[in-house]
Amino acid sequence: MFASSLPMPARLVGEPPAVSPPAEMSLVQLPTGVTHRNAAFAYRGGSFCDKRDFSMTALLVKHPQGDLLIDTGFGRNIEAQIRAMPLFFRAVTSYQRARSAAEQLDAAGYDRKALRAIILTHAHWDHASGLPDFTDTPVWVTKEERSFIEDGGWLTSLIRSFPNVRYVEYEFEGAAYLGFPRSHDVYGDGAIVIVPAPGHTPGSVVVFLTLRNGKRYAMIGDLAWQREGISNRAERPWLQRMLGDWDRGQVRDSLLRMAAIEQRFPEIAIAPAHDARGFEGIPMT
Ligand SMILES: [Zn+2]
Ligand SMILES: [Zn+2]
Repeated sequence: MFASSLPMPARLVGEPPAVSPPAEMSLVQLPTGVTHRNAAFAYRGGSFCDKRDFSMTALLVKHPQGDLLIDTGFGRNIEAQIRAMPLFFRAVTSYQRARSAAEQLDAAGYDRKALRAIILTHAHWDHASGLPDFTDTPVWVTKEERSFIEDGGWLTSLIRSFPNVRYVEYEFEGAAYLGFPRSHDVYGDGAIVIVPAPGHTPGSVVVFLTLRNGKRYAMIGDLAWQREGISNRAERPWLQRMLGDWDRGQVRDSLLRMAAIEQRFPEIAIAPAHDARGFEGIPMT
């Protein structure tokens, strides 16, 4: 369909497992700022004239068995954190901060005791920046991502610098899920299912959410930076793949798995962490 599209994946077969999300489950989006980019930066075939602000959005999942925060977006200390990043990175990154996730939750009177864990889609700076604002909350990561935090070079230097993060590793003990080979059903009710989607980083994940009203979301982290990455089956441009992706072949495999899901279940809202369109309809605080 586009010159830059990857080949069409095989059609996904089978139905998603039955789910029984609790009626009390709900979502709150917490936009924490933007970086100023353009579509040519985001995916192959994108235009330099197509300005795209990359949103930095954390998502609060309220669930009676304990709330979860998916990524943190920009934290309270984002300015100082960016000043500590490599010069070349600062040279190509202009950003605008908004209130951090912690500031938004505190202002809304949110009881932090309800927050059971933070799930990182992956450990890059723009997803983990807010971890120091939640020192009492465990951070769930895969074994692969935990290792990447230790040896990921400048890409994980920020998260590595945070003292006293309480990491909890989890595994994918569950069955295949919508074409992904393994899964982790967080509360056993099918409402929050995490699958391994490696490539961008070794332990990157996709988090599937299903609400009682049947609305479904896939939080895909940075598997694609904008929705066209999935809908056009368009990888990141060469330079961005070289600089930012850990294993480009695995990104491709994971991306095509999501493309097959989109083709078969177009009603699932695919939400790249940096594309505000994926979060449309989710209320803010
Ligand atoms: Zn990333
Ligand atoms: Zn990112």
